[in-house]
Amino acid sequence: MSTAEKIWPKGWPPEIRETPSRFKRAIGKYWVRRSSLCNDCGICVDLCPYGVHRKIGTKMLLPRDYRCIGFVCQETDHYCINKCPEKALTLIRNPMCDAMGDKRWTADLLISTWYQAETGEVPPGDLEYKVGDSGGGFDKLRFKFELEGERPKEIPDKKEISTSILLNRRNDKRPKVAISVPFYGGGMSFGSVSLTTMLARAKAAMAWNTFTCTGEGGYPEALVPYADYIITQVATGLFGVREETIQRARVVEFKYAQGAKPGLGGHLLGDKVTQAVAKMREAVAGSALFSPFPFHSVYSVEDHKKHVDWIKEVNPHALVAVKVSTPTDVDMVAVGSYYAGAHIIHLDGSYGGTGAAPNIAKKNIAMPIEYAIPKVHRFLIDEGIRDEMVIMASGGIRTAYDIAKAIALGADGAVIGTSELVALECIRCGNCESGRGCPRGIATTDPELTKLMELNWGAQRIINLFNAWHSQLVDILRRLGIQSIKDLVGRTDCLVHLDYM
Ligand code: SF4
Ligand code: SF4
Repeated sequence: MSTAEKIWPKGWPPEIRETPSRFKRAIGKYWVRRSSLCNDCGICVDLCPYGVHRKIGTKMLLPRDYRCIGFVCQETDHYCINKCPEKALTLIRNPMCDAMGDKRWTADLLISTWYQAETGEVPPGDLEYKVGDSGGGFDKLRFKFELEGERPKEIPDKKEISTSILLNRRNDKRPKVAISVPFYGGGMSFGSVSLTTMLARAKAAMAWNTFTCTGEGGYPEALVPYADYIITQVATGLFGVREETIQRARVVEFKYAQGAKPGLGGHLLGDKVTQAVAKMREAVAGSALFSPFPFHSVYSVEDHKKHVDWIKEVNPHALVAVKVSTPTDVDMVAVGSYYAGAHIIHLDGSYGGTGAAPNIAKKNIAMPIEYAIPKVHRFLIDEGIRDEMVIMASGGIRTAYDIAKAIALGADGAVIGTSELVALECIRCGNCESGRGCPRGIATTDPELTKLMELNWGAQRIINLFNAWHSQLVDILRRLGIQSIKDLVGRTDCLVHLDYM
């Protein structure tokens, strides 16, 4: 029995449980208002298949309007607004949608991610859950079948479709670690997020047989039960890096740079450095902590190899991942990482990062991941080493469709982060760097704010999101007539760019 099966009684794939918002009024795309004309007849309760209307005894409850599918419901025979005998119901678009999110993480994407985290299912109605509105990159790419309704000649049985990928393709006698979904969680350190957030991500990773990453803030003891699903990170600050933390990891990641802020290193403001964070990082509470850029011990492939050899010596079973940002010569960096002995090259493009990364850096320094992936993929093919190197891509990957597009561009899988926080009801307010700034108790180290979120609730929300993604990935492969996600790698012929059709 795997560790996942011990914790999640029904084993793998994990059980999906409805996990509603922890707040009294969840945010949705529509508002359904019931006026005083309502006579509590309950007709709308029977009508709405989405559970918007509820009644306890003779009393109608406030509508759960965040589940309403909106005006597309007019085309059905269960449109409550028209069927109400007292004309007591009104439907409008939630005006908050105009203020929420941004071009990349639109209000629709936020709300659809919350929906998937609550139900584990693909959102119904007109909620956009595949793309944002940035006007470029993944938002301009489509799978051909999305435009043409193309059906494959032979549609594989859904159950036969594999979304699993191998993280070690070198024949170096190290374990052939496989994950069941083509994505894992990126580094978020203890200090940048709460311990509850880290544990929720770890539990979800275990349930789906994938990984999450400690980031560079040390390896809290509470994560040890999930050790088989944890990547530990070594970054320039070396915070909390110890022999035993490296020895218990199945994958160790060197972080050379972050795509959201290349050349800037890490910076944890003093008000997030609580006693617990300071203890973990062997620092002083209240003082800001810098993780400088770059590793001053690495200026060549030979130096890089010494680093990788160091980890391999300390842990003879671990795989080594190398996280780099996306400069114009990122293809050369990837080749260097291969010759240094890494198993995974993790390309981190611009647009990722939490609200703690400065916007000016996110939008202007690194190359967007959509350009970096094919550049590295093709270069590794030309060098004859693509089959041995795993490419994982991150930097603004928000949806199952983003993951599939990244793979079609040439990555083996994706590394995700913000979408997990959105599953925990992050509203993208951008206050992540501040100790008491996170209104949702996610990116905080404040003991009071941390209590806003309960661990099992958080884990289940991420598990549900992964379930919705998994079914979308299976559906994409089925529609392409592809049996395994591995066969989607580099299939740019499946994609079209809306500007060049
Ligand atoms: S409009 Fe349709 S989806 Fe919305 S509450 Fe009424 S019946 Fe439900
Ligand atoms: S809700 Fe919290 S995690 Fe989300 S952007 Fe705001 S501060 Fe950051």
